Amino acid sequence: MILGKIEELVDRARHHDTRAIAQLISLVEDGAQELRQVLRLLAPNTGHAHIVGITGAPGVGKSTTTSALISEYRKRGLRVAVLAVDPSSPFSGGAVLGDRIRMQEHALDANVFIRSMASRGQLGGLSAAAPQGIRILDAAGFDVVIVETVGVGQSEVEIAGHADTTVVLLAPGMGDGIQAAKAGLLEIGDLYVINKADRDGAKTTARELRHSLAMSHPSDGRDREIILTSADRGEGIAEIVKAVDAHLDWLKDSGDLGRRRARRITMEIEHLAIAALRQKMILQAHDIDGLTLEVAEGRMDTYQAADNLLEIFGRMKP
Ligand code: GDP
Repeated sequence: MILGKIEELVDRARHHDTRAIAQLISLVEDGAQELRQVLRLLAPNTGHAHIVGITGAPGVGKSTTTSALISEYRKRGLRVAVLAVDPSSPFSGGAVLGDRIRMQEHALDANVFIRSMASRGQLGGLSAAAPQGIRILDAAGFDVVIVETVGVGQSEVEIAGHADTTVVLLAPGMGDGIQAAKAGLLEIGDLYVINKADRDGAKTTARELRHSLAMSHPSDGRDREIILTSADRGEGIAEIVKAVDAHLDWLKDSGDLGRRRARRITMEIEHLAIAALRQKMILQAHDIDGLTLEVAEGRMDTYQAADNLLEIFGRMKP
């Protein structure tokens, strides 16, 4: 893509052009060359959106809740973007696409953008792609960017780390307090939602979760709110928005917002740097083979070999 085209695309995205925004997200998925230029052009426009992460096991009601949250935010006149990422199937994106059907009631609303993101060519996979996608949506002027991660595992925990406010969803009988602890969800939630409160056992799940949360000591010393919802009936959704807003206020008042965002930027830089190093490793396979031989035949030790390799990397263009 030629330079002027990129500038035009970024400009259109900044002016809320849905197709331009979608094209930029595709560049992220592809790990396209033009991405450097895009991110440089967008840099001055970022940092305004409230990034809200929603995570939880498949089937707890993330899509239903997200769709209901969109309606609630729209009632308040806010522009909302949803980025659904599925780290467990980096190449399909299909599982998430299915969920988007649930969100079709918002399809014609120009102030809503919904997109699932895969990682087709991006170095460092979705962990590197997700923050870039978020940055594009932030710069495109959305007030709220909801990042929905599918499944529960290490990469979800990592992607949840890209949000200002992380909402962990559980459902009775699916993810009780103990399961949540095992999955590492007690560390990442800023607030907890027990969805399907219309079902038996919701109060028990809430009680168990309360107990597990009391045992884990959040580093910021803040109490984690637990909200009961029935997302498919829209019950409890306004309470989630209220709690999410209250969390943002707290982040601002305590100074934690700046600290969290700085930590995220550090993580992103590390990711990009490590991905670039890996790429160099692949390109320099020949040199590595040579060094391996030197070590194998006793002419060099592994520390020297590693230093040597870093020196070669240092001479390469980024
Ligand atoms: P996700 O996989 O976490 O995104 O979950 P979905 O939003 O796709 O919901 C999974 C299933 O749970 C769907 O059949 C929903 O209709 C249903 N569901 C969602 N919210 C509720 C709820 O509050 N109560 C009940 N009983 N079912 C719900």
